[in-house]
Amino acid sequence: MAQNTSNYKLSAAAGNLRYNDILPYKVESGGVTREFLQKVIDVLLDFVNDTNDRNEKILDFHHPEEMQKLLDLQVPNEGVSLQQLVHDCATTLKYQVKTGHPRFFNQLSCGLDLVSMAGEWLTATANTNMFTYEIAPVFILMENVVMTHMREIIGKNWVNGDSILAPGGSISNLYAFLAARHKMFPNYKEKGIATIQGQLVMFTSDQSHYSVKSCASVCGLGTDNCVMVASDEQGRMIPSELERLVVERKNRGHIPFFVAVTAGTTVLGAFDPINEIADICEKYGMWLHVDAAWGGGLLLSKKNRNPRLLGVERADSVTWNPHKLMGALLQCSTIHFKEDGLLMSCNQMSADYLFMQDKLYDIKYDTGDKVIQCGRHNDIFKLWLQWRAKGDHGFEEHMDRLLELTDFMVKRIRDQPDKFYLILEPELVNVSFWYIPTRLRRMPHSPSREQELGKMCPILKARMMQTGTLMVGYQPDDRRPNFFRNIISSAAVTEKDIDFLLNEMDRLGHDL
Ligand SMILES: *Cc1c(COP(=O)(O)O)cnc(C)c1O
Repeated sequence: MAQNTSNYKLSAAAGNLRYNDILPYKVESGGVTREFLQKVIDVLLDFVNDTNDRNEKILDFHHPEEMQKLLDLQVPNEGVSLQQLVHDCATTLKYQVKTGHPRFFNQLSCGLDLVSMAGEWLTATANTNMFTYEIAPVFILMENVVMTHMREIIGKNWVNGDSILAPGGSISNLYAFLAARHKMFPNYKEKGIATIQGQLVMFTSDQSHYSVKSCASVCGLGTDNCVMVASDEQGRMIPSELERLVVERKNRGHIPFFVAVTAGTTVLGAFDPINEIADICEKYGMWLHVDAAWGGGLLLSKKNRNPRLLGVERADSVTWNPHKLMGALLQCSTIHFKEDGLLMSCNQMSADYLFMQDKLYDIKYDTGDKVIQCGRHNDIFKLWLQWRAKGDHGFEEHMDRLLELTDFMVKRIRDQPDKFYLILEPELVNVSFWYIPTRLRRMPHSPSREQELGKMCPILKARMMQTGTLMVGYQPDDRRPNFFRNIISSAAVTEKDIDFLLNEMDRLGHDL
């Protein structure tokens, strides 16, 4: 049961103390310090229990103005007591959406993997920066081991490549772009845009993640020079269209240099045909990047990796977010390169005060100069610990289970054609569908019914949030009005939860 936020009582002796009565201010305060932290941990553990309790609501929704009234968010002039801090922690979680709840199907990152969470707690406590071996020796070595292992999984010919963890898949995609441009125009780093005689052009599908297009604006191409290639009905890039557009740009004197295919598109979960696109990249001398931020997890499944990711080893770079399908805690995103050395030569600035060449140890372990950040958060420990716990095998089972649950959901939707309309056969765990309220059940399916069904989505979603029993996302795309996109990427979900989901949509929406 949800705890009352005033339940977390410190002892009378500790309650009125303040921040400077505990460590590091008071050396003799080990007991009170421990009591305070234990109480905060009680708050966290109760949140973990509530998250996994199907009788608990996913969220307690309030509009922003109302929420502001419920919370005391002011940062005061004089600090508050330890007791108040514990209450503040409890109140914060009371109004937080439980993204690990078994009925939270709203986002690509769902679920609360407890081993990964334990890792994140340790990371917070170690509180170190990842730029040098000097201050993060164990974490740097872990990063090395896990990144090498991930590259091995991408392909045998990747072992001697290079990788880095980035703050999100969007930035991982940016690293791929930067490395590709650096490889083709090594003088760009020093001489800038003038070294490139002609307009650089990049290509991606009209279903790709918007961060790919954002590379074009951030890096000076302009979004008009990120060419959006048409996709087929399933949402997969059409290779012949890509080739046509590359030739068209070449004929205009432009320089096509970068193709970003998507392995698991964000909305439909589609996989672009990598092999056919790799042929085109080879033919025209373009860098091939695979954005597998979403679908990358399937590389761990012998059964499900092919045909979806066939040809991935032919890419030059791969984005892969463990914080999505693999369930690592936010954030955990990786970018991998087949060729070693590019990250360093592209991004190195050799800051004298961090990356001295005359250090005690082998400075190849100072990874900080490979990135465009200075400080880097430790995102490896939670992934390493999770991988220790699951092994390759555990991850494989997790991937296969998510797809099995997706098949189950598709079957249940098909079993109830009066109430649900499946938009396409999913390749990943994204299930795209409409819910059909009673008054539209007799209407033959047509564009005008789709318009009506689209109008239902925000209303039904609002009802879900107000009841707090279910969260499923919706969006329009360029082919259809609003539709629901359900994501199964949480280890908490079972077949019963999927039946609950469909019944609950009907309960909340039948009268619309
Ligand atoms: C989620 C996603 C991204 C962006 O990842 P973030 O970690 O949210 O920045 C990029 N590409 C695809 C295909 C995605 O699904």
